[in-house]
Amino acid sequence: MNFYIMTLFPEMVMDGLNTSIIGRAVKNGLLSIEALNIRDYAFNKHHSVDDYPYGGGAGMLMQAEPVYQCYEALTEKIKQKKRARVIYLSPQGQTFNQTMAEEFAQEEDLVFLCGHYEGIDERVLEEIVTDYVSIGDYVLTGGELPAMIMIDCISRLVPGVLHNDVSAEFESFQDNLLEYPQYSRPEVWHDKKVPEVLMSGHHANIEKWRREQSVIRTAKNRPDLLEKAELTKKELELVKSLSEQQ
Ligand code: SAM
Repeated sequence: MNFYIMTLFPEMVMDGLNTSIIGRAVKNGLLSIEALNIRDYAFNKHHSVDDYPYGGGAGMLMQAEPVYQCYEALTEKIKQKKRARVIYLSPQGQTFNQTMAEEFAQEEDLVFLCGHYEGIDERVLEEIVTDYVSIGDYVLTGGELPAMIMIDCISRLVPGVLHNDVSAEFESFQDNLLEYPQYSRPEVWHDKKVPEVLMSGHHANIEKWRREQSVIRTAKNRPDLLEKAELTKKELELVKSLSEQQ
């Protein structure tokens, strides 16, 4: 899978993404990540990419032309059969979640457009952007961190990126439940013992315990998720009794 990031701070995204699991996947050729510096496409004397917004108001705006030229250079370079999706990171977009990550992971090429200052001239967004995505209801200084978050999350779903592909299968948000608690050695730490069932080697009982813990955890921490989760009658009763206890 190939990620292309249009940004004013290429070293920020490349330094962040070229480490650990994602960095290894790039080295192994499972992923490619390339950052394009929008400033390289500012064909004016001072290489400036921003200007004052018409109508007044605080801050500066990224101009349309350098962003457009950067995009044109990219499309010329990658020449895909089908036009790659262009994601504009924006607090005004749809909030990113695991289901969106799964959908994006089906693509071969993805382009990310990072805004800065007060954002980007609307006209170029209208011409090139296919998806508007936010990482949450708060405002950051730029789209670089959101792009890195999305790339990290999507990359984990690309076959082979995680050593053990099943570890991406049984995780939080699968089936709209949070993951159960996990334990590793030692068996006793600070007088806290690992739950007995996990030491039993009885796989069916372990699965049953994990599922129940997932339901309990979700009911306590993210009850909103349970609205879409498929629960058995017994699990629904458990959720009801937990909410009565609170
Ligand atoms: N003036 C814009 C507004 O009110 O919608 C906010 C601009 S923000 C200061 C600068 C850039 O940061 C945006 O263009 C976007 O790329 C990025 N950004 C900020 N918050 C974000 C969020 N929650 N999710 C995704 N991108 C975000």
